[in-house]
Order: sequence, then C-alpha cells, then structure tokens
Amino acid sequence: MPNLLRITYYIAAALKRVHWKKEKLRKYQEKRLRFVIRNAYETVPFYRELFKRNGITPNDIKRIEDLEKIPVVKKEDLKYETPLRLVSARFDFNKLKKLRTSGSTGEPFEFYISGTEDDWRKAIYLRANISCGQRPRDRWVVLTAPHHFYDTTSIQKKVGIFSQTCISIFTKPEEQAELVSKANPDILDGYSGSLFLLAKEVVETGSRMIRPKIIFGTADSVDSSSRRYIEEIFQAPFYDQLGCAEVDRTAWQCPEKAGYHMDADSVIIQFVDKDGKEVSDGERGEIIYTSLFNYAQPFIRYSIGDVGVPLSEDCSCNRRLPLMKIIEGRKDSFLVLPNGRLLSPMTFWTIMRYFEQANEIDRFRVIQKKWASIEIYVKTKDTSVSNERLEKRLVQHIRKCLQVDEASLDIVVKFVKEIPMDKTGRLRSVICELPELPNIT
Ligand SMILES: [Zn+2]
Repeated sequence: MPNLLRITYYIAAALKRVHWKKEKLRKYQEKRLRFVIRNAYETVPFYRELFKRNGITPNDIKRIEDLEKIPVVKKEDLKYETPLRLVSARFDFNKLKKLRTSGSTGEPFEFYISGTEDDWRKAIYLRANISCGQRPRDRWVVLTAPHHFYDTTSIQKKVGIFSQTCISIFTKPEEQAELVSKANPDILDGYSGSLFLLAKEVVETGSRMIRPKIIFGTADSVDSSSRRYIEEIFQAPFYDQLGCAEVDRTAWQCPEKAGYHMDADSVIIQFVDKDGKEVSDGERGEIIYTSLFNYAQPFIRYSIGDVGVPLSEDCSCNRRLPLMKIIEGRKDSFLVLPNGRLLSPMTFWTIMRYFEQANEIDRFRVIQKKWASIEIYVKTKDTSVSNERLEKRLVQHIRKCLQVDEASLDIVVKFVKEIPMDKTGRLRSVICELPELPNIT
C-alpha cells in the first residue's frame, strides 16, 4: 500500500530539485550512484559477477564518467537469470512487488521493486504532470493496457487526489470514446497511439464531446503531425513523456516543449555509441539508464534500445533538469535497406501520409522480417479504388521516395480488414523483426 505521506514528501522534494544548479544535481546523482553501486556489488549476484569479470570494485565507480567501465546490460542479459540472482539479498523477496515490462522489445520481463521505491516512482512521475499544470483533484483518465491498471490507486481514490480512471486500450474505440466522454477528464493520458485513435473516433462519429485541459502521451512514439492532430481535436496541449517500466518515466516535455527534461535525480541517462562511450551533446546515441532508486533490483548501465540526443541548452521554463531530444521510434522500429541505410518510422509515416491524405489508406503496418524485403499491411479507406492499382502506386511511390529498385528491395503489399494491435497492445506501425536489429548509433 502506498504511503501517502511519503509520496507527498517525495513530490515536494522532487519539485524543488528541478531548480537545482548543475553542480548540485551532479553531486546528488553521484552520491546516490555510489550507494547504488555498492548495494549491487555487495548484495546482487548478477552484478557482483559482472563487476568481478571486468575487474571493477565499488571504489572504481565514483563519478558518472566512471560508469563507462561497466559494460552495457541488455534485457536479454537479464531475462534468463533467476530472480534470486537479480534481487538484492538485503530485501525480503516475498515482500517485494512484482512488475512486468510491456514487452515492446521482445518477451515481457518481470522484475521487483520495494514499497518505498514504488512511492518514489509515483512522486517522480507526478512531478512532470504537476509541472505541466495537473492539480490533485483533477479528473484523470488514462488509456492504457490492463496490466498497467494500478492496484494502488484505491487509497488515492478514497482520498480523491491524483486518482486515475483507467480505460483499457483493448476496449472498442466507440466504447472508449463513450467511457472517456462520460468520465469528462481534466487530464487525458495514455499511449499516444491510442489517443490518436480516440481522436479519430471522435472525428468520425462526431458524437462525443471530450474537452480535457491537458493531454499526456507516452509509450508509442507518434509523429509530430499526429500530436498536432490530437491537440486540435481535443483542443488541449499534448505533452509527450518517455520511459520504460523498469525505471519508470525518465524524460518529459514541459509547456515550453524545447526538448524533454530528464529525471536526472532519479535515473542517470547516458547516450552512448556502439562501444558504450558517451556521445557529445547534439549527437545521437543509444540511451543507457542507471537507476538511482532501484535497490531491490538494480538497473545499472541498462539499455532497452531507445535512442536519443543529449542537449546542452537550458530550457526557457527555468527548470534546470537537463534536456534531451528523442529520436522517434525504438530500435525495433527502424528498418534497414540492403545498402545499410536506416529508415526511421517517421520515414514511413511521411511516405504513407500521401495516401492517407488522399483518403485511400486508413491504417498500415510495415514489417521487415528479412533483409532486402519489407511487408506492408494496408487497411484501405476508399473502397472505390482497386487494390491492384493502389498496390502498384504504393510500391512505385515507396521506390521513388527511398530510391530503391526491385533488385535491391522486395516490397510485398497485403490488404487486410483490420490491423491488429501488436503483442504488447500497442499500435506500432513500423516493426523490424530482423534477427539482428540494426545498429543505429
Ligand atoms: Zn522546460
């Protein structure tokens, strides 16, 4: 059960830290980092072995730069370990809370947190929302996967502050619109892809009035034109947030939207090249998380395959939490041409917009399962256009945009009645299923 007093204290302290000067924040990060490293070394078999294999002792990791000595750990490295090798011996395993990732980068993965850590996550999470204008008694509706429905909101519901009404993304769009409309949210929150579909549903049926004051989107990266569409339909600002289940929310847009403020007091975010070395400001790199609050099950130098760009600029909102930029899409949303050229999901969104605007294509999904071949699943909108002709134009258009000929890339178009959600309950339109994911750094 969450400790409301503790959460309130955490929130107040977290809101103060956004104004700390760089040096003060860094000192705070490094102090916490030393505790995290010592805890992992002394009480977590997986990390103890990893450190020993690489000749590292806790004394070697004192500053953020020292983290480079630790190899990057991926979810695949942890997936086959037993919980007892990943969980700290200091904690009573039976008292920990089991959480799972949504599995967007593969199979879902379970991990454990303590009650205090859960309260910390909630506080850091709420800090961004409060910074964007959310108030404790606002009606807060979240479109999310059922496994994210909080069991812990009961007490918040009772007290009536920051209490969420969750609506499953697997509910039919028309029902969703009805439920959201009934709940009359001040805050509309959820997977960006689902919010986009909700906006479309509202437009198509024209029957529901949904007027939140703020919208928060997460998980699915939708392109900026889709975000603008959501803002336009609901007539409210849309703020995007970044994160993953293991370390929770890690970066967020403030009302200035100059980038994403990183929750640097909760998680150290590094951007690294393929050798694990940090890239310079303004360059893109693979995002590596080192959690500063996960003691029960530490995440150190942990990669989930996201990519981003560290920025050196300050934000005009006066919050000093450092800024980053996101590269839209995860690694498994990047396709790769036979000549090695990478295509961001945005590329396909742009290509396909041509047909969407012409009202020919309703939805699509691009999947790459093999080198030199992509499959495009298409749900058409305008039935008066013959599939055969649309397929021909589509393939021609893609070849022209990407400048690839038949010999170098095979494009297979399949017309379907419905594009299903992917395994994670999300709505990714571009998926790379190559056995070896492209190295995009
Ligand atoms: Zn800002």
